[in-house]
Amino acid sequence: MQSIPSSIVLTQSHLAQLEKHARDSLPNESCAFLLGAGAAQVAVSEVMVVKNAQADRVSFSVPADELLNAYKKAEEKKLQVAGIFHSHPASPKPSSTDARFMEINPVVWVIYSTTESRFAAWIHSDQIYPVEIVVR
Ligand SMILES: [Zn+2]
Repeated sequence: MQSIPSSIVLTQSHLAQLEKHARDSLPNESCAFLLGAGAAQVAVSEVMVVKNAQADRVSFSVPADELLNAYKKAEEKKLQVAGIFHSHPASPKPSSTDARFMEINPVVWVIYSTTESRFAAWIHSDQIYPVEIVVR
């Protein structure tokens, strides 16, 4: 069985940046790429905020050029797109739509709840598993 990340390391400043992005994007959902490296534990080294192409309250999609740009930037820095962040105007649990995209993008998904003011992280590997958020 392929090992899946059990934790993701973010700094206090990454979390503050993501929370601000989520709040600034209200009433819409926000999203960002988390560039980093690691297998069992993913360490995020950079947050790359992207615009939500859908400008929607309950869903998000990333413009193709932004996605390409994120992968290019990660490669230049010898990092991976190790995580995908988005916000929810509800509990930070993956929706059924999220679950489908998580299956296609098996990286760590970090969700911030703008109503509960908290983060949660998840990964899809046959099923959805919680991932511990370690703050440094
Ligand atoms: Zn979602």
